[in-house]
Formats: sequence, C-alpha cells, structure tokens
Amino acid sequence: SSSLATDNTTNDARFKGHDMLAPFTAGWQTTDVNPLVIDKSEGSYVYDINGKKYLDSLAGLWCTALGGNEPRLVEAATAQLNKLPFYHSFWNRTTKPSLDLAKDLLETFTARKMAKAFFVNSGSEANDTQVKLVWYYNNALGRPNKKKFIARAKSLPALHQKFDLPAPFVLHTDCPHYWRFHLPGCYLYGPVGNNSLDICYKEYILSMLMNISGETEEEFSTRLAKNLEELILKEGPDTIAAFIAEPVMGAGGVIPPPATYFEKIQAVVKKYDILFIADEVICAFGRLGTMYGCDKYGIKPDLVSLAKALSSAYLPIGAVLVSPEVSEVIHSQSNKLGSFSHGFTYSGHPVSCAVAIEALKIYKERNIVEKVANISPRFQDGVKAFADSPIVGEIRGTGLILGTEFTDNKSPNDPFPPEWGKFLSLFLSYLLDRFRYLAPAILNPVWSSFRIGAYFGAQCEKHGMLVRVAGDNIMMSPPFIISPEEVDELISIYGKALKGTE
Ligand code: PLP
Repeated sequence: SSSLATDNTTNDARFKGHDMLAPFTAGWQTTDVNPLVIDKSEGSYVYDINGKKYLDSLAGLWCTALGGNEPRLVEAATAQLNKLPFYHSFWNRTTKPSLDLAKDLLETFTARKMAKAFFVNSGSEANDTQVKLVWYYNNALGRPNKKKFIARAKSLPALHQKFDLPAPFVLHTDCPHYWRFHLPGCYLYGPVGNNSLDICYKEYILSMLMNISGETEEEFSTRLAKNLEELILKEGPDTIAAFIAEPVMGAGGVIPPPATYFEKIQAVVKKYDILFIADEVICAFGRLGTMYGCDKYGIKPDLVSLAKALSSAYLPIGAVLVSPEVSEVIHSQSNKLGSFSHGFTYSGHPVSCAVAIEALKIYKERNIVEKVANISPRFQDGVKAFADSPIVGEIRGTGLILGTEFTDNKSPNDPFPPEWGKFLSLFLSYLLDRFRYLAPAILNPVWSSFRIGAYFGAQCEKHGMLVRVAGDNIMMSPPFIISPEEVDELISIYGKALKGTE
C-alpha cells in the first residue's frame, strides 16, 4: 500500500508506492518509485517532509536562480493573480505583462540584435517551437528540402532510446568533450555523432600511426569543425536547416566547449546558410558568469531557447528569441504562405510573465551576473581541488556549473562500475520485479553501491546536500545567490562524500 514514511530516526522522508507515472521512470533501479519528498525551501536550501535540511547544489533542476524564498517574485505573482490571472496572448489579443516581458527580455540579449520573443512554457516547448520556426522559414524562402537539424552526440541518448528517436530529420555530430574524445584518446566509446565506426577507428589508428602526441584543444576543435562540414556535405547543404547547441552542455555531463570550438563551428554553419540555434535553457541569465552563454563564447545565434532561470523557476515560462532576419521572413511571407500557426494556450501567461519581469529586474538591480562571476572561482577552485582523487576522471565547469565524472585509473577508457556489478543489479531487478513495493528497498542500496554516481549522490544526501546524478557523472549548479559560506559548505560536503565513496 502507498504510504509516506515519516520515520524521524532514519529520516526516511521517502514516499513508498506513489500514484504518479513519474518522469524518467526507470523500473526498480532508481528512486522514482520512492522519491524523497521535498517540502520547503529557503535561500540555497530545501527541507524534506521530516524537516531535514539540504544544500540544494543543483538549484532545483538548474533553475531556482534566486533561491527558495524570494518575496518579490511571490509578490509579483500575487499582484498579477489578483488583477488578471489569465488571458491569452494570440489572435490579436494580449496582456500587458507579456508585452513588457518581450521588451525587457530582448534588451538583455546583446550578443547580437534580436527582434522578437515568442513565449512558451518550458525549454522543451522552446525547442519544439524552433523546429516549426525553422521549417516555416525555409518553406517561406522556397527551400522545402532544407529541413534537417544537426545536434551533438551525448545530448542525452536515454531520451531517444525506446521512443523511435531521434526523428529522421535530426542528425548528430561530435560531442565536443575534449578529455574524452581528443586523439589519440578514447576508443572505448566507438563512434561519435554520425561518424561510422570505421571513421572513428580510422581517426584513432591514424593518430597512432602518425604518432600524434596529443591533439590540443584547438586541433580538436578544428577536427570537429571538419567532421561537421563533412556531415553537411554528405547529406547535402541544401537539406540542412539548423545546428543546435548549448553553450555549455548541461545534463550531458557539464561540458564546456574546447578552445576555438564555437568560432570554427559557426564559420562552417554560416558557410552553408544553416541557422544557429543556441539552447540557453541552462546557461542564460548569469549561470556562466556572463548574462548569456553566447556572450561568453562569441556566439551570434539566429534563434535562442530560454526557460528555467527566466522566472527563477517560480512559475513555468520559456521563450524563443528570433533574429531580425528570421522574423522578417516570417512576417513578410505569411501573406503568401499563410499564418505561422503555432502557439500554446499559456504562451505569455500573464502571471508567469509578471514573475519573469521581476526576476529580470532583480538580476539587474543586484548585479547578479557580476556576483556569479565573482563567486565562481571559489566554487570552481574549491571543488576542482579534489581532482586528484583516484576515483575522479575529470572535474569540469565554469561559472556556477560543475560536473564530476568518476572513472577508474583517471582514464576515460575505464568507466565504473565493473560489468559484473551491473549484471548483478539487472539480475536482481529481474528477480525482484514480482515484489513491487519491496524491490526498491532491497534494490536501491544494491544498485547505488554499484553505480558510483548514485553512491556519491546518496553520500551527499546523508551529509545534507542534493546533487544531480547521471550514471557516472554528478552535476551541480547552485543558485546564483549562493553565499561564500554556503560555497564552503558545499565543498566540505563534496569532500566528505568523495572520501566515503573512494
Ligand atoms: N534544453 C536544455 C539545455 C535543458 O537542460 C532542458 C531541461 O533540462 C530543456 C531544454 C528542456 O526544458 P524543460 O524541462 O523546461 O522542458
């Protein structure tokens, strides 16, 4: 039967057997069947249902930039709820908050001029909107074959497997992870992007034969740009519509770009008249110590996806920023082609917009970008000081975002856990599948003791900190308002969890 355990002695604030089809449901091996119930938040901390306090090192899901109890955001929402809780923003009707937010938001983006903001409710809706915008744009320009998208490998394959994805119009090019993929380097993971296995091995063998002592970051970026160009030429430039990338890959393991990467990639994309979409869902509004990831890496995108910190996550809202060129085509051609018929009931929801306006105001008033830039060396250097640990392969990040990848022998070729551990976990999960509510209690400790990331995550939780775990990676992206003392606490818990995991 379902129950909420409230055992104060063990602080078991986990719900047993709930009624949700949980996002990212993963059988009995993970905690989605008995999640930790979070009840309250305050600054950089959250509290579980039993009152245990945790430093929220991921800011919710990379999003509660202003922390857990910013009264101005609550007041902005309440005032708007009292005045006009809802009116839609299409078919020639709109509301004042959505008009004001569009203006304020466009002013914050200075990497290049952007002309319009299209409002959505999430990062996913922003990226879905990009597909329609890009297809409409090319249809309007009389280029009906120019429809394919190029993304980078490692943008969460688990989101594709079992769903017949990626869709045929989405291609993948190399993941820009220097430590893992520079030559002569990692052969274990096989092909990267759409390169075939033979290209991957050919590159590896060639590099051995030519006795390349090691690609520099710049050489690695040059090779990746060349591979991208080869992919475009193989598919036909007139079939490739857009290239999409996060300035720093987030959920893929926190992967900042190698030196000169975006400069070289942008040159290729431009050469073949391919639109550049910057997915700034995680990076925007200060996360990297600059207002946008585009500012940090000199990216001049045609389209931008935003969400998360746009409202500091107090209410769902996202946006797509559209360049003057794309917007001009959409406006001028819609007489011929028919309207750009795309939108959501809650596009530009007035209450979400009111909160986002206030969040942008606070970022500006409190010099949030500068604050992040100032505190990030303490965070980066403090955590990176643990890079010598025998179980750490790489610690990487910039600004207030960090990922740790655990590997054996400090090598990308020696992942944890041992294969037999994985096998045992899978075998146990098969046996225990019959005992649905019993299984997690037995399996989670077994599973997490074999999955080093999950084990580290459990150690952090024990010591009062929540981190994001994904396989052998753990990730942190604390609220922008984190204080120096809280950064020190984060580092101290990280150290204890690492000691307990070694
Ligand atoms: N894009 C990036 C880079 C993300 O990290 C995420 C979510 O984490 C999304 C898009 C999807 O955003 P949402 O979960 O708001 O739909």
